[in-house]
Amino acid sequence: MQTHEIRKRFLDHYVKNGHTEVASASLLLDDPNLLFVNAGMVPFVPYFLGQQSAPYSRATSIQKCVRTLDIEEVGITTRHNTFFQMAGNFSFGDYFKREAITFAWTLLTGAQDDGGFGFDPERLWATVYLDDDEAFGIWRDEVGLPAERIQRRGMTDNYWSMGIPGPCGPCSEIFYDRGPAYGSEGGPEADEDRYIEIWNLVFMQNERGEGTSKDDYEILGPLPRKNIDTGMGVERVAFLLQGVENVYETDLLRPVIDRAEELTGRRYGSDAASDVRFRVIADHARTAAMLILDGVNPGNDGRGYVLRRLLRRIVRSARLLGADQPTMRAFMDTVRVAMAPSYPQLETDYDRVRNVAVGEEAAFLGTLASGSKLFEDVARQTRSQGSARIGGADAFTLHDTYGFPIDLTLEMAAEAGLEVDREGFGALMAEQRARAKADAQARKHAHADLTVYRELVDGHPTEFTGFDELNTEATV
Ligand code: ATP
Ligand code: MG
Ligand code: MG
Ligand code: MG
Repeated sequence: MQTHEIRKRFLDHYVKNGHTEVASASLLLDDPNLLFVNAGMVPFVPYFLGQQSAPYSRATSIQKCVRTLDIEEVGITTRHNTFFQMAGNFSFGDYFKREAITFAWTLLTGAQDDGGFGFDPERLWATVYLDDDEAFGIWRDEVGLPAERIQRRGMTDNYWSMGIPGPCGPCSEIFYDRGPAYGSEGGPEADEDRYIEIWNLVFMQNERGEGTSKDDYEILGPLPRKNIDTGMGVERVAFLLQGVENVYETDLLRPVIDRAEELTGRRYGSDAASDVRFRVIADHARTAAMLILDGVNPGNDGRGYVLRRLLRRIVRSARLLGADQPTMRAFMDTVRVAMAPSYPQLETDYDRVRNVAVGEEAAFLGTLASGSKLFEDVARQTRSQGSARIGGADAFTLHDTYGFPIDLTLEMAAEAGLEVDREGFGALMAEQRARAKADAQARKHAHADLTVYRELVDGHPTEFTGFDELNTEATV
């Protein structure tokens, strides 16, 4: 079943059950806690917090999401994209656990010729929060799921909040068993690679107070109105229904892998390290296109830095696979064909999207050409001194003088079997920032001309800002 069909069936199912279809919001909602929208519920937060009253009591959407927290997983696990589509259904003070569970079950196990996804019910597992006997009872007695396939899990996995005082509650997640060839027995509690999480159902029933961490806070009492928030991963359902091995081989992403094979001459499936690079390219090319579409431009901090890093990783991966020519235009053209049917704006804005991506590729290829040689020198020197650790000062020089980003130094060092003194690098960066600040102050007082600021090889110094979202709560 193609991704387009999965999206359609999801929305049809919930509209048929009284939900209002709501279009995806931009990835860039104005939320100080979030770099990007990372869950389907984000656009509905004002309703969940009771700041606004919802114009409908039931809604359904397929929300564009970006999770930079998952970047390190991309290409390595079978199931993490940086950009993915979260299909969801929401109840604002309307139905609660019973319907949330049965709606999901009906869609997952409904026959394919009857509008469902046709998952084999024998392969589905559910988890519930430790003391959520209500959800456990619905799964066992109303859905008919055998008790052995319902697992109880604690705060970390099965209790949800937004990380701030407000609504919270237990979750129930649905997993698909890929079978013994993919790992050990024992359900999702034992192995989340064999048992793939496809859907998270959140039952907002309580109010939480302040707390010190994700799973340590005070629960103040029941909410006056209970809500439902669910999120199903469209890419994960596509992966499982299409009989492929992971989310990167599904109909919307595989064409980029195929294109990368043509451009690099390397075969997908011939060695593990190359395969990760193919998957990184497929994932990141799509994420970059969708970010640019929503208005992000490459930059040195925040959202712009995320985009820059994704684009650079594509360039590096393609080169490591053997590409000796620019590849970005071809990747973007492929993403356009796959994604424009669901996101028509990608068609209308395509020239802009492609130009931004191709421009960053050109700039970075220039940086790479000059920086790679310097990196080799530093690596050789480090080894000749009998060390396996690149000094912080060297990493800083590469960055500061040659515009070679620290994340690249770290990656290349790892590939060369070397470490990097990150603390030393960080200290020099902090010193530089302090100096720049003092300089700026001095110049301000002296009315100096600020236009003399030196530009580095790739435009501006790249500050390593880390890759974590501000809000690290796992949210649906
Ligand atoms: P995982 O444990 O696999 O990282 P999660 O618990 O972080 O997933 P949720 O926050 O519960 O995910 O999100 C709801 C659903 O969205 C998940 O059940 C999954 O189907 C999908 N999903 C989450 N993260 C990703 C991702 N990085 N790529 C693709 N789909 C995802
Ligand atoms: Mg999970
Ligand atoms: Mg989850
Ligand atoms: Mg996760």
